[in-house]
Amino acid sequence: MRDLAISLLADSLRIYSPSKKEGSISKFLMEKMSNELGYQNVRVDAANNVIGEVGVGKPVLLLCGHMDTVPGFQPVRVKKDLVYGRGVVDAKSSLIAMIVAASSLKEANVGRTILAAVTDEEGSGSGIKELIRGGISADYAIFGEPSGVQSITVGYKGRMSIKITCQTSPVHASAPWMSQNAIEKGLEVWSAIKTHLGKLSNGANRYAGLTACLTRIRAGTAENVMPGTCQFSIDVRYPSKFTSQDVSREVHRAVNSLLENPNFPKTSIEIGDSTPPFEASKSSTITRALARAIIQTRKVKPIYLHKTGTGDMNILGPALKIPVVTYGPGNPHLSHTSTECIEVEEYLLSIKIYIQAIKNLKAMLKD
Ligand SMILES: [Zn+2]
Repeated sequence: MRDLAISLLADSLRIYSPSKKEGSISKFLMEKMSNELGYQNVRVDAANNVIGEVGVGKPVLLLCGHMDTVPGFQPVRVKKDLVYGRGVVDAKSSLIAMIVAASSLKEANVGRTILAAVTDEEGSGSGIKELIRGGISADYAIFGEPSGVQSITVGYKGRMSIKITCQTSPVHASAPWMSQNAIEKGLEVWSAIKTHLGKLSNGANRYAGLTACLTRIRAGTAENVMPGTCQFSIDVRYPSKFTSQDVSREVHRAVNSLLENPNFPKTSIEIGDSTPPFEASKSSTITRALARAIIQTRKVKPIYLHKTGTGDMNILGPALKIPVVTYGPGNPHLSHTSTECIEVEEYLLSIKIYIQAIKNLKAMLKD
């Protein structure tokens, strides 16, 4: 299994697959799963997700990982103890480990395991949304994202995108007193939002607080024209004590006094996509099955992680209303970096842990 697991991971890394360009890796996995790994009913849906299954009966466990990566190909290097490549941590080693683990249990009488390799996790989540629209159904789910081999991710923050547009009358740059500068006014709005959300999280740790990040500014038409429009995007991450309505209300509250001033330029606030925060149960059967697998394999108790990011678990957990959890090998801090690499032993160990967790789940349901 060792050679198969390593070569499959390396091959998957050689296929460049940034979000929305997963066609080749989707085809690759479909062929491997149907022709070499013994999956049944392997299909590719409208979002290029690859779905296949092994085993029969109960429980039905969904193993879900994403095929896409952030942009920027990195050379694939397979050394004795490390594997390098774009997406090796986030999250191809988790995905391939789950594919290998489920394949090895195809005749093990541990219930039915559905493997879903989804697209666009690093984008807008169109893969997981299509999977839900397509009527995927399971009793439990594990998401493959890097937590480190001895840790389990049980919490993710929510995410909301906000677009602000400030409009003034553009004038010649030689006569700036004739109007207001849309960039400067836009930055006043941004600063008010950042300060207000910061105050709401005063003293909270990173997971428990609200954060706002200015991610894009669009403004200006020429070097000698004072800009009349400034549009900027803000990415807000919020913990589970807030709802999306709370966040939207606080953003409006932050800028109210500025915008009520009749001299302030016309400004619109557009609340875009939002994904709610998610907390998985530490006492659910699936989390306990995984925790037990870590103890059996590593002889240590797992560490439970709360992450400041947002994952597909946030979308599928509430939609299917089933116990879900996130687990996978790799140091999450290496995600999206130019030094992304994974230890071969950790990767192989995670396959063992997935296998043991699936067996534990079946056994615990018999108890
Ligand atoms: Zn990921």
